[in-house]
Amino acid sequence: MASQIAIIGGGPSGLMAALLLEKKGFEVQVFEASDKLGWTILRAGNGRCNFSSSKLSADEYSHSKEIAPVLGSTPEQDILELFDNLGLKYTLEEDRYYPASMHTRSVLEVIMREIRSHESITIHTNTKVERLVRYDKASGVQAIDNDAYPFALFDEEHNILCEAEQVIWAAGGSSIKDFAQQNALAHTKLTPLLCPLKCEAHILKGLSGIRAQALLKLCDTSYQSYAEEFGELLIRSYGVSGIASFNLSRKLKEHSILVIDFAPDMSMNELCAYLDKIIANNPGIDYAHLLDGLLHPDLGRRIMELTQDNAECILFELEPKRKSAKKAVYPPTRIHVSAVDTLVVASLVKNFELKVLGTTQLESAQVVRGGLELREINLESFELKRIPKLYVLGEALDVDGACGGYNLAWAWLSALRCAEQFK
Ligand SMILES: Cc1cc2nc3c(=O)[nH]c(=O)nc-3n(C[C@H](O)[C@H](O)[C@H](O)COP(=O)(O)OP(=O)(O)OC[C@H]3O[C@@H](n4cnc5c(N)ncnc54)[C@H](O)[C@@H]3O)c2cc1C
Repeated sequence: MASQIAIIGGGPSGLMAALLLEKKGFEVQVFEASDKLGWTILRAGNGRCNFSSSKLSADEYSHSKEIAPVLGSTPEQDILELFDNLGLKYTLEEDRYYPASMHTRSVLEVIMREIRSHESITIHTNTKVERLVRYDKASGVQAIDNDAYPFALFDEEHNILCEAEQVIWAAGGSSIKDFAQQNALAHTKLTPLLCPLKCEAHILKGLSGIRAQALLKLCDTSYQSYAEEFGELLIRSYGVSGIASFNLSRKLKEHSILVIDFAPDMSMNELCAYLDKIIANNPGIDYAHLLDGLLHPDLGRRIMELTQDNAECILFELEPKRKSAKKAVYPPTRIHVSAVDTLVVASLVKNFELKVLGTTQLESAQVVRGGLELREINLESFELKRIPKLYVLGEALDVDGACGGYNLAWAWLSALRCAEQFK
């Protein structure tokens, strides 16, 4: 028997669509390539799943003008209602929603609990849908845009997996290239986003793992700032990670300089006064420890090293080719800072520069930019304009949002708005 709706992809958008359509009385089959439904939910938010935001503004998404009507006037409440109905208790941290259990499994399990209790949802895991056609069984004629024919879904061995009257493609960002090419649909190139920034970071060597609250600015080569974010920064051997750098990765232009303010709450004058006071109160101060009370001591010490013209270890790291010559003196057990100019120290604390080389690889990205072009779909129903009864949801579309629950919110909302149109 032909199922009424086939959903390709058992991620957040596909699973939410399955639940909502089942409630409307449809028979649904979900095809998931991996062995586990909802595995992409499990990795979200560092195991905590930041499933939505209390400030879902269209401005925080690409193509904000086009997608504003999809968000509607109460997107936050619409998503919370979905999870209230599923019995999920949640909590708000700043403007991020998390499950109250602080465990991402709670989000997946409330969805799965409902799916398991409804016989009209059939799940097929380990089942990758390779191709999708519409064809007339009697004549064998294929025509993807002829809605008189049902859809047929094929696996990698060209076996028919099922026939369906309507199909929802919810298979995520990396699936879209093949899907779009097979069906002659316009799509944009995929680039990793919401990921760490790769920098020329010799200067940060040995500091990997240090966290700091900082103001990060992306500047062009004339030091004009074009994007900034305040938040947690995590130093890595290859550059910087953390939510603030993830959000900047959405705005990164070529040839940029990252300027980090490690003391954003203090003005330059306040910082100089603070440093002068420490020096005045500690006549025999070892200047290497001047910043210990302000920053992570290892970071503070590195900045103090940078203030010294003859800081051997910094020269060593900035010019790796001098490695052998300098080996004997690196690392120094103590830096010899006999006097400091507090203005120079404060400048380095507030304007710590790193040359940005780009974003890191796809695997470390939370989302991809790119996907099926929005002009291909009707954004009220998520139905393709040229292929009736075929719908595309979630990250497969060329929509990406800021860090902080925006991307899962898009997955839930696209499923909700699409399901609302089904009669
Ligand atoms: C590490 C990490 C952490 C994240 N944390 C957050 C967060 O805290 N908050 C937030 O808002 N966003 C977060 N995101 C982003 C968020 O997870 C995605 O935006 C969201 O999962 C997209 O949902 P989707 O349903 O569109 O696609 P996906 O989640 O990608 O689901 C697609 C599903 O389809 C399956 N599939 C693919 N191709 C086929 C095929 N041909 N046949 C059958 N099945 C197929 C895949 O196996 C997958 O299960 C995070 C992402 C990552 C990588």
